[in-house]
Amino acid sequence: TPATWKKADDYFISKLHSADPDMSYILKANEEAGLPEIDVAPNQGKQLYLLAKMKGAKRILEIGTLGGYSSIWLARALPEDGQLITLEYEEKHAKVAMENMKKAGLDHKIEIIVGAALYTLPALQDQEPFDFIFIDADKVNYPGYFEWAIKLSKPGTVILGDNVVRGGKVIDENSGDENVNGVRTLMDLLSEEPGIEATAIQTVGSKGYDGFVLGIVK
Ligand code: SAM
Repeated sequence: TPATWKKADDYFISKLHSADPDMSYILKANEEAGLPEIDVAPNQGKQLYLLAKMKGAKRILEIGTLGGYSSIWLARALPEDGQLITLEYEEKHAKVAMENMKKAGLDHKIEIIVGAALYTLPALQDQEPFDFIFIDADKVNYPGYFEWAIKLSKPGTVILGDNVVRGGKVIDENSGDENVNGVRTLMDLLSEEPGIEATAIQTVGSKGYDGFVLGIVK
């Protein structure tokens, strides 16, 4: 049940995560600023950190900053000369995120670009490709974000898209939910894209029943 999922998350976090005042501060600052509580869970945040570290990522792109909670987990995995670029539509979210990044002492590694991501992504073509791309903004635009992620990649780039299970609604081919349809179109693109090897994993936890899609560019 959802109550058990939450308790198991709390248990694993109590065993496997050390006390993390910066992260606790950030979640509190987000709440005080009235941001929606749709950041990744702490263990999902640490999973992002571990994946970026396994990859040895030096350049990370994130689409969907909110208060910078996942950005800060990812930026912690970067070497001193690494960089994370994160894209956010809401000016207010970006402001809260910048404060949080300063507080965590990671603002020198992070650039926030404010605007609708489909309009800010093209400018990134002039830069070096990314090693790790985390897609976590509006689900309607996931197909477009995925196409950009492929363009901004090189062989070995890891692409991760969050919230693709949507409580199981992803299997509804006649869904009237535009978020579900966005995810399903992304799956169609992935199934037709020979340039990436991918899978999707369902998860339960403190944030309910959802999951992510994970791939590596060939
Ligand atoms: N990754 C964050 C975390 O785990 O801490 C959570 C991101 S939240 C699920 C999604 C964010 O995407 C929101 O802050 C929202 O304002 C932003 N967003 C929505 N539409 C967007 C768009 N078109 N371009 C860029 N960001 C967008």
